[in-house]
Amino acid sequence: MRINRTLRLGIGAIAVTLVAAACGGGSDATTIDDHLREGKLTIGIKFDQPGLGFRDTDGSYQGYDVKIAEYVAGKLGVRPEGITFREAPTAQRETMIMNGDVDFIVATYSITDERKKKVDFAGPYFVAGQALLVKKETTDITGVESLTGNKKLCSVEGSTPAQYVKDHYATDVQLVELDTYSRCIEALRSGSVDAVTTDDIILAGFAGQASGELKLVGDTFTTEKYGIGLRKGDQGTRAKINDAIEEMIADGSWKRAFEETIGPLRDSTLTPPAVDRY
Ligand code: GLU
Repeated sequence: MRINRTLRLGIGAIAVTLVAAACGGGSDATTIDDHLREGKLTIGIKFDQPGLGFRDTDGSYQGYDVKIAEYVAGKLGVRPEGITFREAPTAQRETMIMNGDVDFIVATYSITDERKKKVDFAGPYFVAGQALLVKKETTDITGVESLTGNKKLCSVEGSTPAQYVKDHYATDVQLVELDTYSRCIEALRSGSVDAVTTDDIILAGFAGQASGELKLVGDTFTTEKYGIGLRKGDQGTRAKINDAIEEMIADGSWKRAFEETIGPLRDSTLTPPAVDRY
């Protein structure tokens, strides 16, 4: 009797788990094609990165990634009013795509082999590089070679720059991992860390907002190819997004989008990357 009851409870628990798995995770069973037929898309962006993906106080969205997202959506037949932007923090991006919380993500998202195990990428549409940001009065951090002496360096959990520091400077610096770059910037301003590290273009956006209080130092020391992350295996959508990126580059909108957003804050020349149709 006792065994039977335990068995029944066990089976019940399995059934509940299966139902929960089928309905759970905020996911819905609809695909991007269903959403496109309705003229709708949910796109993941950053909400706190000035010039790239930024939610303004009036609720509007600004930045280079926003313009890339809107152009691609347009080529897929979706008007700006059909787009719902969702915040896609660094560490949650693969999960959001896998759960179907977003149709795709345009959020300073580096293409890596590790991430490709879970999601696919269209693009790249931009190439950035890891750099360092410090307060304007800082003199002892001048570039990657200054990463010694147990200095406190802030980056974001789940990001490629945080991983790079762990791989190369684990014993030289103290890595402080927060969930967004805006939190790292607060930590830098309050003096609780010595520098912030991530892609140059992200740091340039924050430096631009800080009116001379913060400065980028040294050269970039990694290559970060920004892709548009989407559900793994969706070759059809990936090809269409790649076509859209190529058209955006060819018709001049890609360059204009950059110049109207983050461009003026970054002082290197702009070369369009070739999309990788892997
Ligand atoms: N591009 C890097 C990455 O995808 C850093 C920027 C970010 O965290 O969004 O990890």
